[in-house]
Amino acid sequence: MAGAVTAYIGLGSNLDDPRAQVEQAVARLDRLGGSRVAAVSALYRNPALQAPGVPEQPAFINAVAQLRTRLAPLALLDALLGIEAAQQRRRDGVRWGPRTLDLDLLLYGRRQVAEPRLQVPHPELTRRPFVVFPLLELSPRLELPGGGPLSGYAAGLDAGALERVGTVPGFDGAAAGLPAP
Ligand code: AMP
Repeated sequence: MAGAVTAYIGLGSNLDDPRAQVEQAVARLDRLGGSRVAAVSALYRNPALQAPGVPEQPAFINAVAQLRTRLAPLALLDALLGIEAAQQRRRDGVRWGPRTLDLDLLLYGRRQVAEPRLQVPHPELTRRPFVVFPLLELSPRLELPGGGPLSGYAAGLDAGALERVGTVPGFDGAAAGLPAP
């Protein structure tokens, strides 16, 4: 795709059939104007954080998609917010419930963005095992703009709670991202 940038999108869901939410979001990303999903990591099951004051929640399903896109960073963010909104309504249809889909713009080529409503690379990227390991699966030698090789961050993260639970149909070609046991 001429003039396209490679962006990485983090996907997560822990409500209303999380796996279907993630698969549907990938299909929506693939249909965005000027954009095409080039690859998707495996789906990873990731137990929700347990901490005092944090309500118990079901485990998340997380994945990372590689997107070739001609959308500018803020236009892409708006497109992601639009996909989130399209998938937020609970099945009971009575009220807007807890979030069923979270999409994060992790990386946008080698660009760094520091705007009030968009920071790229995503500020939490290197601290989240459910982002770092799927990203490495897609791109083992990925360099973070201003941050060096992503693989350097993996050593300090615990992949132990992450469990590969399958792939997104049509996007099942990526190699394993978890470190060898
Ligand atoms: P949250 O729902 O907690 O992920 O926060 C969503 C808000 O974070 C969005 O409305 C964005 O304006 C803001 N934001 C800042 N940087 C990013 C990013 N890299 N990806 C997604 N949202 C971002």
